[in-house]
Amino acid sequence: MSLSPFLDEILAAGIAGVPWQKDFANECLRCGRPASWRPALSAPSGMPLEAAWRYLRPENAVPICHKCATRLDWNHSESVRLDAVWGLWGMRFEAFLQWHRAWQDNKLPLLWDRCEYPLWPKEFGGDAWADGSGAMKDADPRPPRGVRRLKRHKDALVRALNTGTLKTYPQRICGKLTTFMDAKNATTLPLTSSLEQ
Ligand SMILES: [Zn+2]
Repeated sequence: MSLSPFLDEILAAGIAGVPWQKDFANECLRCGRPASWRPALSAPSGMPLEAAWRYLRPENAVPICHKCATRLDWNHSESVRLDAVWGLWGMRFEAFLQWHRAWQDNKLPLLWDRCEYPLWPKEFGGDAWADGSGAMKDADPRPPRGVRRLKRHKDALVRALNTGTLKTYPQRICGKLTTFMDAKNATTLPLTSSLEQ
């Protein structure tokens, strides 16, 4: 097999895997106090580093202070983390999530041009930054201001920030996230990646 997918991933990381946290405001999304940007999803075990840098992207992070993290049970509640990051990043998180799931299912598009679309394949996002574009022109880390939020995103934010329980989750969530929740146990199985072949 060609080495080029690996090299293309290294190039994509160089384009889009740049540090951003110190340039972003760090007010807690819930209370406004000084906060840390906390990741929502973790890289599956077995994912090579040249792909796993995407979990460090802002689209997978939410600014939450220590107090609110405790209150929301952030570290232990995947549903709170998913609702918060989904609500904050709207379609940009949906595009990232599609990449995350496609990687886990070994279903990434074979013709993914990682130089033109370093973040995720073209078909996972829209044409504009606010619509989840993963194109080179939209790869610079940007704060979530200006993200287009639909009702499902606003609902998710309310669920994440107004409650610390799982009671309202996940019945009303969209199909993508429900499927993700069903598939999450797959992370304990051996993972194979087309990038490793
Ligand atoms: Zn807070």
